Amino acid sequence: MKLKLIAPKCNVTQATNCFPPYVLAVLAGLTPSDIQVSIQDENIEKIDYDEQVDLVGITVIVQTANNAFRIADEYRRRGITVFMGGIFPEACPEQCLEHADSVVLSEVEEIWEDILEDFKSGTYKKVYKAENRPEIKGLPLPRHDLLKNKKGYLTNNLIMTSKGCINRCEFCSAGKHWQGQVKTKDIEDIIAEIKLLDMNEPILFIDDNLIWNPEYAKSLFRSIIPLRIKWVCCGACVDSIEDIELVELAKQSGCISTLLGFETINERALKKSRKGFNKVEKYKNTIDLFHSVGIAVQGTFIFGLDEDNTESFKTTVKFIEDSELDMVTFNLLYPYPGTPFRERLKRENRLIEDKNEWENFSYKHLMFHPKNMSYEELCENFEWISKRLASKKLCAKRIYEAVLNNRAPEHVFHQNINLRKHVAAMYGGEWE
Ligand code: SF4
Repeated sequence: MKLKLIAPKCNVTQATNCFPPYVLAVLAGLTPSDIQVSIQDENIEKIDYDEQVDLVGITVIVQTANNAFRIADEYRRRGITVFMGGIFPEACPEQCLEHADSVVLSEVEEIWEDILEDFKSGTYKKVYKAENRPEIKGLPLPRHDLLKNKKGYLTNNLIMTSKGCINRCEFCSAGKHWQGQVKTKDIEDIIAEIKLLDMNEPILFIDDNLIWNPEYAKSLFRSIIPLRIKWVCCGACVDSIEDIELVELAKQSGCISTLLGFETINERALKKSRKGFNKVEKYKNTIDLFHSVGIAVQGTFIFGLDEDNTESFKTTVKFIEDSELDMVTFNLLYPYPGTPFRERLKRENRLIEDKNEWENFSYKHLMFHPKNMSYEELCENFEWISKRLASKKLCAKRIYEAVLNNRAPEHVFHQNINLRKHVAAMYGGEWE
């Protein structure tokens, strides 16, 4: 049997965030060797509909939903069976079943072989759902060989050491999906997987929260010191980071940069979003702690929380400038399907629904009525802050500081340039 796994094109490929579909490499790794498996990613290559395959699996998030439907429709028109999985089918299974023969509504590690057997024998079910969250220890390694030679990504060098998040922030689809649980890989498996990557280039650790368990993180960091790699942490919670030993071990094991999910500098907004574990008064100390060992910091922010008003944009810019963050990422708040935030908006009659809704998850469309400002005020202020944070002056300053203090200068340079590209893609034109 020939199985093709597909990542559809994102509505807007965020210039700061174009990575290979790791989840498909994981599935390919779990696939029995008598099944021939390939991966196509529409973000960097054309889907080859003429290639002979028996079964197509499509991973779907909200930003890829419409493209997933188009791809699925075309394969089914050609008589090929299609199934979908991922966070979007879990939230909107019926809509996916209008385009796919089958949907997988859970993680698949423990049921993957059964699913494939069913497809082989033509006895597949419409809906698959594992009863429990599977362990991820001792599994076959992801098929990095299927991603390694693809061109067009910011990097092909990435790994996930854990799945899940212990928190359940109101707006986050990860919080809903993982139900407060985290599963970790064995450290030996992580080391074996790192050895499949290019150890001369920085490796991205794409966990939702790499340091959710500080003691586990310390063991991991100690174990990878001998590998002498450089690595970037793509997700960490601000509540976990007061531990100097943890930060020093991260540095010793090769960490050059970390992303921290600040989201907002408004305590009330954090509490209302069930993210009260972030303590605004600790933000600056946390950034200083990483800087003290030479690790660069990327802060993430969202705008449009209920407690935000037009003043929030100015105070956030001031915080970002004063705190000497090396990189910033920011987004409008989005009502992701299945999240408590979306349900609350519906109850409060504030959700803006239209038939092209999934198309609008594209980084600059506001999809609900804000609480403490008008729709227009939020959009205008978001454009203002996007351009301000991606201004030549602020990007140059961040790069200069990173070079001066030897904080991952190359990484900081690329991230700031990509930020400018991202804002240019959103709003076009030139700005200061
Ligand atoms: S926002 Fe971060 S901390 Fe909150 S649920 Fe999502 S991944 Fe977890």
